[in-house]
Amino acid sequence: MTKRAHSLSDHRGLRDLALLRQVGRLMRIDDPFFRLSEGVNANLVQKDGSTLINFSSYNYLGLAGDPRVDAAAKQAIDEYGTTVSASRLVSGERRIHQQLETALARAYGVDAALTFVSGHATNVSMLGYLFGPKDLIIHDWFAHNSIFEGIRLSGATRLPFPHQDLEALDAMLTKHRHKHDNVLIVVEGLYSMDGDLPDLPALLEIKKRHDAFLMVDEAHSFGVLGKTGHGLAEHHQVDPREVDIWMGTLSKSLASCGGYIAGSTDLIDNLKHWCPGFLYSVGLPPANAAAALAALDILDREPERVQRLRQVSRHMLETARAYGLDTATAMGHAIIPIMLYDDAKAARFSNAMVQRGVNVLPVIYPAVPAKKSRLRFFLSADHTPEMIDQSFEPLLELLKIKKQPVLSSAA
Ligand code: PMP
Repeated sequence: MTKRAHSLSDHRGLRDLALLRQVGRLMRIDDPFFRLSEGVNANLVQKDGSTLINFSSYNYLGLAGDPRVDAAAKQAIDEYGTTVSASRLVSGERRIHQQLETALARAYGVDAALTFVSGHATNVSMLGYLFGPKDLIIHDWFAHNSIFEGIRLSGATRLPFPHQDLEALDAMLTKHRHKHDNVLIVVEGLYSMDGDLPDLPALLEIKKRHDAFLMVDEAHSFGVLGKTGHGLAEHHQVDPREVDIWMGTLSKSLASCGGYIAGSTDLIDNLKHWCPGFLYSVGLPPANAAAALAALDILDREPERVQRLRQVSRHMLETARAYGLDTATAMGHAIIPIMLYDDAKAARFSNAMVQRGVNVLPVIYPAVPAKKSRLRFFLSADHTPEMIDQSFEPLLELLKIKKQPVLSSAA
């Protein structure tokens, strides 16, 4: 058989993968990714018949597998089936979509909200639709891939500013604002690699002064920040209507799957009628809408979940610091990296932690800048200070740090 001139087997992705696997084999490191475990991805997971303390789930409020959330999803399947079988514009609109969007808008304190079938697709499609080649999108260096992809699709000029450096942002806007039609500043409510959050009041001042729009991706901050978990605006006690575009996902605190945009009536009306990722894609499955709606309801009724998450996060951060571990810029809000600065070490440590009963994943390049590898702990309201203390034992052993009685339990 003659070799075809073009083959998908020659794709650069496969070449990169082969190289990575070869390095892994040479260094005798098992692939730490796509690890199989059973059951709900909650604070504990089952793997090969044993129970691991799990830090690899975005189950911030402990609502994944909550019987009330599961029951709502099952009831929605009984009522609507597993799919709405069409774009909502065509014939896929169901009351459960409207109920969820009304509840999201209320949770944000804005006019309206719109849900999409995936968080990633929400950013890609919304940015790709709303902005164009004459525009500038200026974003924090550590923005999520979905934001990059959306900007690429839009054709807007893309400028990254150094992580959390609002003086640099200000200076860049002074230099570039006048060359563009619309300008959008994009930040995240809580950075998923580092666990730090932006200064929203300062950003609002900058965006107003430069006549720019502001978008906040709340994938990791909704349910986590603010007294009642309503996110970055609640944390900073600012009027949520001052932010032009709120974006979030249903897949983390809200124990479901999908994404959303919240904002003004005009913004949502526009997206609802023209944004390709909404218009030409199927409506959110009823079970996902019902699960997120039930989770939102529980968040309102049980704000103590947010407090528990805060306490356990603080306990972990203080314990890590007491042992002299490098947690970079983590602020004690649900995401805590333990910096290792070495890809192989991060992968090896992750595998060794699993052997010792703790599921924590390594984050390596390109998810973080080169030589900024780490183990990343995602916390949940259902983690206890005892689980944290127990998880530090193998970590300290691997880091060759002597264990001493450091702290009492939760701060
Ligand atoms: N934005 C950010 C900041 C994220 O971290 C993620 C996913 N982790 C997304 C968007 C995409 O969300 P989803 O996984 O729900 O598609």
